Amino acid sequence: MVRTVFLNGKYINENDAKLSIFDRGFLFGDSVYEVTAVIQQKLVSWEGHTRRLRRSLGEIGMNLDMSDDDLLTVHRKLIALNEVREGLVYLQISRGAADRDFAFPDPCIKPTVVLFTQEKSLIQNQTIKAGAKVLSFPDQRWGRSDIKSTQLLYASFSKQRALEQGKDDAWFIKDGLVTEGSSNNTFIISADRKLLTRSLSRDILGGITRESILEYSKKSGYQIEEKPFSIEEVKDSLEAFTSSSTTFIMPVVEIDDYKIGSGLPGKITLELRDLYIRNIMKDLI
Ligand code: PMP
Repeated sequence: MVRTVFLNGKYINENDAKLSIFDRGFLFGDSVYEVTAVIQQKLVSWEGHTRRLRRSLGEIGMNLDMSDDDLLTVHRKLIALNEVREGLVYLQISRGAADRDFAFPDPCIKPTVVLFTQEKSLIQNQTIKAGAKVLSFPDQRWGRSDIKSTQLLYASFSKQRALEQGKDDAWFIKDGLVTEGSSNNTFIISADRKLLTRSLSRDILGGITRESILEYSKKSGYQIEEKPFSIEEVKDSLEAFTSSSTTFIMPVVEIDDYKIGSGLPGKITLELRDLYIRNIMKDLI
């Protein structure tokens, strides 16, 4: 099915969507984005995604003349037009098109706003059964991983290298400690059954899924600690997993050729995945 996409105020056929070659998203990666999951034709954790989008825009000094309600309307309209039952809505806002210059252009130029949908099976995910195998890489991304910008080359490059070595994903290491995965936050269950995840800072993206998992698991009585952990701690852990908007909770069964726990998706991980799915279903909009 040829999709309808949104480009700068218009709903158009995806084949007719054309952007300027001077767009700063294209030339400089001067753009931010969000990916919101869709289940039963509704949006997951909408409030969190708009909050983070506003933060990203603020951090890079970009204006957007659309309200949260305007954005919600576009998301909903694209889901309806494209009959997306399960999948995602991708939103990208770039600073707009201007003559190439490292300095930001006149703040009056109009940002470029792009949204499109992708159908994808989220609740049924084949990789869950086997779990993911990951390889560690030095975290060589820029120092503002907390901003959800489209400068994703190192994440893409590392994931590709992991795939070429028969693995599923890349985890990044900074000063001997895990920061996050190529497109997800990382968690372990320590030997004393605590749920550990790195605390928020400029080193990681504040995942909306991470935030929800912490909220739901706290309410359900899990012991939680937000602190960084090393590869050695991952190897010694009972279970490990990643979180993201479109994979929810993904078991991780191997790191750098070393089996984590039993080498199979962990019991607590799968319990948390169920807990997460049950809770987001109550809050779809
Ligand atoms: N970290 C990085 C680097 C990511 O790219 C993502 C997903 N885009 C996440 C974490 C997870 O964020 P969320 O749960 O909001 O999808």
